[in-house]
Amino acid sequence: MMKKEVWIYAQQDKNNIAEISFELLGKGRELANKLGALLAAVVIGKNVRELAPTLTAYGADKVYLVQHEHLDLYTTLPYTRVLVDLISRFRPEIFLLGATALGRDLAPRIASHLKVGITADCTELAIDNYTDPLSKKKYTDILMQIRPAFGGNIIATIVNPDTRPQMATVREGVMKMLPPDAGRRGEVINLEPELDKEDYKVQVVESKEIEKSVNLKTAGIIVAGGAGVGSKDNFQLIIKLASCLGATVGASRAAVDGGFIHHDHQVGQTGTTVRPRLYIACGISGAVQHRSGMSESKKIIAINSDPEAPIFEIAHYGIVGDLKEVIPKMITTYRQKSGGEQK
Ligand code: FAD
Repeated sequence: MMKKEVWIYAQQDKNNIAEISFELLGKGRELANKLGALLAAVVIGKNVRELAPTLTAYGADKVYLVQHEHLDLYTTLPYTRVLVDLISRFRPEIFLLGATALGRDLAPRIASHLKVGITADCTELAIDNYTDPLSKKKYTDILMQIRPAFGGNIIATIVNPDTRPQMATVREGVMKMLPPDAGRRGEVINLEPELDKEDYKVQVVESKEIEKSVNLKTAGIIVAGGAGVGSKDNFQLIIKLASCLGATVGASRAAVDGGFIHHDHQVGQTGTTVRPRLYIACGISGAVQHRSGMSESKKIIAINSDPEAPIFEIAHYGIVGDLKEVIPKMITTYRQKSGGEQK
């Protein structure tokens, strides 16, 4: 009998593999091991053969390569066609994509073509047995698709036990990638796409890259400000503390909505998920939607004037006080201790 396969979509742009693809390989490896299945990465593009060894090093047993001149830049129809054809032919057990702009466009198209269920924006995945509460039908080794629901107030586990593949998109920055092993060997399967004129209704005329103003995902230290900062002017305090510590500036949604700082800095459910060595939350209450994006930080310091603020439940160190007084003292003390100027 053919071994089952767990597939991940390896997103690439100009032959740079998106970090989420490595994160999916890390989780996919765990799921495949649990199922006794093979882990495969699917990569589509113009000339993407050189990416296969990297995908293998990060955990793939197999790499499905689909190369074609017209698949250089992503457009919805041909990529959907290629993946629907591949899935129909090889019938993977599970198919995971990143919840990136591309993944959010592509995944539901594929699911609707194949008439299978899909869970968007998962923050955890696991394999478990499942019994349907109504029919009492028992299923073994089903993908548990876990994500916050109802504005983050509950964590829902979703299953689609009757159709294959079990599909999910996964939030960026949540799953852990494996350390690459250049010695791993894998199989590469080259496939010719079947495409016709109908697939090229949309053509990319020009593409422009706009750099993000901040990269929170790779930051080692983050100083984040919330509504408690009070104003855009006061937010300079957060920026000053961050620059003093060599940190990156983060923010809660309330601070972003208040116009204190750009959305690129938002941490949380609808912002970036971060895992720095140190996260300093200033004037942030600690709503579940914020916590879901930063609770895995190695050390958390919270500064809040309300001793009952929920952020203190997850903080390793808590300072109860007015941030307008606390932050300048932190800056002065840090500079004194590190031998810098004293202001
Ligand atoms: P508040 O909750 O207003 O808290 C301000 C805190 O500052 C309070 O605890 C107060 O005691 C303290 N404070 C006030 N003055 C001072 C002072 N002078 N010194 C010290 N402390 C002071 N939120 C996110 O952050 N990220 C998300 O990605 C996100 N996504 C969401 C998605 C959905 C679907 C929904 C429904 C909500 C989302 N939210 C998100 C919003 C979230 O629910 C909260 O509203 C938000 O996190 C609150 O931001 P805050 O803690 O800065 O503000």
